[in-house]
Amino acid sequence: MFKKILVANRGEIALRVICACKDLNIPTVAVYSEADRHSLHVRFADEALCIGPAASSESYLNIPSIISAAEVANVDAIHPGYGYLAESDHFSEVCETCEIKFIGPPPQAIRMMGDKARARQAMHDAGLPIIPGSGIVNEEEDALQALKEVGLPLIIKAAAGGGGRGMRIVREEDQLLDALDTARSESKAAFGNSDVYLERYLDNPRHIEFQILADSHGNVIHLGERECSIQRRHQKLIEESPSPVVKDKERRELGEQICKAVAEIGYENAGTMEFLRDQKGRFYFIEMNTRVQVEHPVTEMVSGVDIVKEQIEIAAGKKLTTKQDQVKLSGHAIECRINAEHPRTFSPSPGRITAYHPPGGPGVRVDSLAYADYVVTPHYDSMVAKLIAHGANREEALQRLSRALDMFVLEGIDSSIDLHRRIIRNVQFRSGEFGTSFLQTADLD
Ligand code: ADP
Repeated sequence: MFKKILVANRGEIALRVICACKDLNIPTVAVYSEADRHSLHVRFADEALCIGPAASSESYLNIPSIISAAEVANVDAIHPGYGYLAESDHFSEVCETCEIKFIGPPPQAIRMMGDKARARQAMHDAGLPIIPGSGIVNEEEDALQALKEVGLPLIIKAAAGGGGRGMRIVREEDQLLDALDTARSESKAAFGNSDVYLERYLDNPRHIEFQILADSHGNVIHLGERECSIQRRHQKLIEESPSPVVKDKERRELGEQICKAVAEIGYENAGTMEFLRDQKGRFYFIEMNTRVQVEHPVTEMVSGVDIVKEQIEIAAGKKLTTKQDQVKLSGHAIECRINAEHPRTFSPSPGRITAYHPPGGPGVRVDSLAYADYVVTPHYDSMVAKLIAHGANREEALQRLSRALDMFVLEGIDSSIDLHRRIIRNVQFRSGEFGTSFLQTADLD
């Protein structure tokens, strides 16, 4: 097992990784920017090193600085969390060169899945259904040709995309070239790469994703699915497991197909296979995330598996100890992402938290970076907490979630707590009958 792990991240996920390391008795090293000097991950790690100024590009994305910290602290592994360098094949390669284990997949797997057009092709070849679409289309002529094959409406997507950025919906043929132009420049600005591809645009689908774990000995299991259709601007806001619409047989069959495809590409570590499900109930692979996800706790609560601990053990070369038929999914879990944001405009609301009391009680988990007096800085993501409730069934999970939202004290900044209250009261949400357009159309008052 590793002797010491550096956590190359901040916020709640850095704390989450520290928890897993403590449970495994592995000392940790936190890295932090000047803006995060008073953060909890700095406090709870065994050692902490400052890696640069507030700007992420100079700290949490600064590979030389992070590698120097790893060498100074003499760690033998780095956990990247999610975001930042978690899906950087280059970083994973640098770690390999420096003989520090990157706790995640090997660089080639990150590279293949990081290009969404290539990932689609690879998964299609491995037998998974994909949405009709194109390869990379950078020229106008190629785009016009692809439109003929894909049909309307379609969506232009950034090959290097993530976080819902770099996407453009095209409903009429004469919108195509303008949209192509915008998507390409947006993608270049956000990801440093302007490659885009086209996909048929599905009307109000459900976003359903499978959590997988793959060890370095060729074993792959899945831990069921997560329903992530409650989204704002293509970004997830509420996630749950299981999905209210996935039947046991469907989970078993699709899960088996997924594990086979993941094994075929020689994947290793934790990963998420994302699908859209159309209104006829057909599933289509859209992308794979090669890291731990924000929403991993809902899977942990229904499966009892500590996903971050598994990531560390897999990276250390251990075999998965659980076989697929030993995976027991029990009850229902729902997560609300609580962001520091204005309740109407949704713009970030940084500032000092004056009072903070996270809820507890049966079936409730809070993963958060916050404490009373903590200052939410404008430099980073606006998520301050994840509130997760588990119950014997969806009804009980919702009841506990509602109680926990009411007992969540977060003062001094605006937050999405009230929006979550209104969503989970909504009749349509409660019925489980919703798709990714829910938030655009629902009456929430
Ligand atoms: P990102 O990597 O930016 O998160 P994804 O490919 O995972 O992008 O898509 C994010 C969301 O965008 C999906 O959950 C869905 O709401 C919407 N979306 C993506 N592709 C399509 C599509 N072909 N049809 C309809 N909605 C889509």
